[in-house]
Order: sequence, then structure tokens, then C-alpha cells
Amino acid sequence: AALFYSNTFRGLLIVTMMISVVLLAYFTGGATKSYTHLIYIPILLSAYFWTIKGGTIAALLSGVLIGPLLPLNVAEGIMQTEGNWIIRLVVLTIVGFVAGGMFHKVNKLNEQAKERDYINPLTGTYNTNKLVNHLEERMNKGETFAVFSIKLTNIEQIIRYIEQEFAKDILNKLVNEFSNIYGKDSVFTSGSDEINLVVQSSCGYIDECKSIIERNSTAFNVNQFTFRIFMKIGIYEYCGTDETPVSVYNKARIAYEQGERQETGIYLYDEEFDLSRKEFLEISGSLLESINNNELYLVYQPKINVAENRISGVEVLTRWDRKGKKPVGPDVFINLAEDIGFINEISKFVLKNSFYQMTDWNKKGMVLDFSINFTANELLENYVVEWERKVMADENIIKSKLEIEITERVLSRNDDKIKKRIDELRANGIKISIDDFGTGVNSFFRVAQFPYDQIKIDKYFINYIEVFEIREMVKTIIDYAHKFNKEIVAEGVETEAQLNILRELNCDIIQGYYYSKPLRADEFEKYYLNFHEESDKRYRS
Ligand code: C2E
Ligand code: CA
Ligand code: CA
Repeated sequence: AALFYSNTFRGLLIVTMMISVVLLAYFTGGATKSYTHLIYIPILLSAYFWTIKGGTIAALLSGVLIGPLLPLNVAEGIMQTEGNWIIRLVVLTIVGFVAGGMFHKVNKLNEQAKERDYINPLTGTYNTNKLVNHLEERMNKGETFAVFSIKLTNIEQIIRYIEQEFAKDILNKLVNEFSNIYGKDSVFTSGSDEINLVVQSSCGYIDECKSIIERNSTAFNVNQFTFRIFMKIGIYEYCGTDETPVSVYNKARIAYEQGERQETGIYLYDEEFDLSRKEFLEISGSLLESINNNELYLVYQPKINVAENRISGVEVLTRWDRKGKKPVGPDVFINLAEDIGFINEISKFVLKNSFYQMTDWNKKGMVLDFSINFTANELLENYVVEWERKVMADENIIKSKLEIEITERVLSRNDDKIKKRIDELRANGIKISIDDFGTGVNSFFRVAQFPYDQIKIDKYFINYIEVFEIREMVKTIIDYAHKFNKEIVAEGVETEAQLNILRELNCDIIQGYYYSKPLRADEFEKYYLNFHEESDKRYRS
């Protein structure tokens, strides 16, 4: 293929074709034969290769070759008349010239279209298509360089709330500045909020980015208002390892999205991170299979009523047995499931299996509150409503033994629909528990506006409960809850010292490793029997 594109080869091809036509005409009798018309083929081909120049030269050459040099009748030795071949030469030349001109035009249009593919219409600069091309060229030459991917983080807001034109002005101003420093060919934009720079390899990328940020943190003025533009910069340094240009570009962007933050607004690409992204994909893929493959199971962590010294209930937690693959905890896979829209399937699994467990334990005389974790949106889902009905209708299960734990951050959405739904659940005797209390914003304020039955003080407070200020804070929370007849649970209690303080502060229920880790059903049964035997013994003595 490369050979076909070489000019020498093409020239030889065309001359060969011309001579072949002349020879064919000569040996079949002379110029009277229509074979001479075949001469158009090399002329058009030449016009295609070298446009006007190619077409014209080939036509002139052909005109001479099949003109004075070729007899009209070879056998009889009659030559062509001058007028005859000159007219032919002129016609051929016109054809060659015009055809060349047409090819020239087509090429130009093609180039323009291609060029348009490479331009961001918003800024008139090169776009990321061109960037990828540019990177490839540099990589092929064996150069090393760095890509700075600059994200303008508040341009969207400026467009939305101020003015499209203003955002465009800012973008153009930045593009001009970068073009002056790095050269026009090294600046590439994408949409209205991303600028990529390809920077010559040198040390001190971070300093370079720092100065970019400093220079541009000055205010812009519009209609007597002053605005600042905020940016973050991802840096990826290409060192000649074999990668595709697209992956080089992506790494610069991955850097500012999730990379390790170096200085205010500057992020470095981190290999580790990309690996965990791959891992992330692997995990989300296998999560979808986990239910069918029977890899999910439930564990139960005892909740202890301190005043009565008995196990009052369990929190139901999900575990994922990845069959030898690297273990993944619920804090990871539950969030992931929420992101990929799989949380409903997990919740259905949890509901179904905890229903069996409740029935089983109730039959065995173990009367326990069951706490299940939900995201607030899920409360509105049909399967929760159905589950509720089913549990209500089951005689083996006593109504008041169900609790739903929802995280506090969810409450801040202050959604009337969710509120109404919570009212309904409570009217049916299901307890609402505010999980991770104290970790969100406006905790007291939000909680005060919400219907609930129980507050779970976050592990974080319990960790520091021996610190006087924290202990006072927990005391305030407990007193506040009791004032409104709400129950208080402390979670993540690990030591006797923590337990004693909480007991002193009148905390109702304790959950944590001090008593037990979350246990499988059979382990929990043993724990339950043992716990109650012990406490009965203590009670008797
Ligand atoms: P969470 O609801 O706050 O659950 C309490 C977490 O604290 C559990 O972690 C539990 O094992 C852990 N924990 C309990 N006592 C202690 C202690 O004394 N010390 C320490 N260091 N940790 C303790 P786990 O099981 O890893 O669950 C993490 C989170 O995942 C849960 O936080 C919950 O938000 C979520 N989760 C787990 N299972 C489910 C589920 O079935 N559905 C939903 N929606 N979320 C779930
Ligand atoms: Ca919980
Ligand atoms: Ca919690």
C-alpha cells in the first residue's frame, strides 16, 4: 500500500500505461484504431494523483505519444496529418486540465470537512479529535510530553445564570493566553469547559500548573459584576510506554476527576487509581451475578437493651462471598449497587431472606426486632409496600418488631412524598431509625422535621466518647431524644469503658463488637442462647 502512494511508482505506472496504449495501437494497425482512446485512463489517473499539473502534463505527453510518433496506418506507412494530432492534443490537454481541476476541488472540500472535524465550534480552536491525532504524531516520533487537562468548574453555572456569551469570552481569553504561551497547535478544547494543553517535557509540571491557576484566578468583569473562574488541572506525563493516544488523554482527565490532589486544584495521574477503576468494573460486573450465583448472604448483629440486659434485636447486614476473589465489603458494594441501579435487587434479597429468618426465629421463641437498611427512595418502591403487607399479614410475626434504618443525609432531601410514606410505615407499626446520626449537616434541625422512632448515634462519636466534649454532646443527643420519647442506639461500641459511659448517659440500646460482630444465623442462635443463659444465671445469683 505504501508503495502505491510513492510518486516514483505512480509515475512509472502512468508512463507504462501510456506506452502500452501506443504499442497496442501500433501493433493493431495504427492511429485509426479506437484503442487510442484508452489513453484517457493514464491521463485521468495522473489527474487524480497530481490534480491540474498531473492531468495537464500527462495529456501533453499522451498527445505527443499518440500524435506525431504514431503512424495512421502502420502497414501502409501513412503518418497522421499535423492538424489531426494537434487537435487531439488540445482536446486531451483540456480534458486533463479540467479533470485535474475537479480532483483539486474535491480534495480541497475533503480537507475542509476534515478540518471542521477537528475544530470546536465554540472556540474555533482544535478539539479533542485533533488532540488525539496530535498525540499520536508525537508518540510515533518517540517524544515525551505532558498533557494538562484543565476543567473550568464553574463555567456551567456562568452559562446557566449569567450569560452564554460571557462564558465564551472567558474561554476565548484563556485559549488565547495558552496559545501565546504553548503555541496554537498545542491547545485543544472540548465543549465549553475543558481545555487541554500538550506541554513539552520538562520538570516542574506542578509549578507550571500553579502559575496557570494563579494567573487566571484574577477576576473577570461583566456588567459591573466581578466573577472568578475556578479550575482544576489533571496532569498526565507520557514517558514513552506503549499506550494509545486516547488512553493518554483519558489519563489526564481521570487525574482531575479522581487522582491524587497535589496542590489546590492540581491533580496527578495515579497508576494505582486506574487499576482500581478496572477493579471497579470487574466488581460491578460480578455484583450483577452475585444473587444468581448465591454469593450474597445475611449476617445479624445483636442489639442489646442495656437496662434489661437482653438482646432486643438484630441489624441485618449483607455480605458478599466472592468465592476466593478479593473480598469486598458492603460499604463498597452497597454504594456501587446504588450507582448502577442494582440496590433494589439486593434489598429484595434482604427482605425475602430476613422474612424467612424472622419466621424461623419466632417459631423458636426468639423474639427480636429486625433492623433493615434502606435508602429513602426505596421506601417508595412497590416491593417494599408488598413486603410490608406480607409481614403484616403473617401471624408468626409480631408487628412492632420491624425497624427500617435510613441514613440521615437522606432526610436532608426533605421530600414530602417520603415523609408521607414514613408516616404510613409508622402507622403500620414499623419503627423508623435515623442511621449514622451526627454525620450529616443540620442534624438536629432536619431530624426535628422528620417522623422517626429511633436515633442511631454514629460510631464516630462513640470512638471519642471518652473525650469530655464529645461525651457531653452525646449526652445532649440522648436527653434530646428522650424528651421526645425516642429510642437511642449507640453503634460501634467496642470497649467496656465506652459501654459504661453510655450506660451512665442512659443510652437505651448498644450495638458493637464489644458484644458481638455481625453473625451468621446459626452462630447468632448460639450467641443468643448463651447470652440469655448467662444473664439468667447472673439474675438468679
Ligand atoms: P451501617 O448501617 O452503619 O452498619 C454498621 C456497620 O458498622 C456494619 O458494617 C457493622 O459491621 C459495623 N460495626 C458494628 N459494630 C462495630 C464495631 O464495634 N466496630 C466497628 N469498627 N464496626 C462495627 P458493615 O456490615 O460493613 O456495613 C457497612 C454499611 O453497609 C452499613 O453501615 C450499611 O450502611 C451498609 N449495608 C450493609 N448491609 C446493607 C444492606 O443490606 N442494605 C443496605 N441498604 N445497606 C447495607
Ligand atoms: Ca445501619
Ligand atoms: Ca450506622
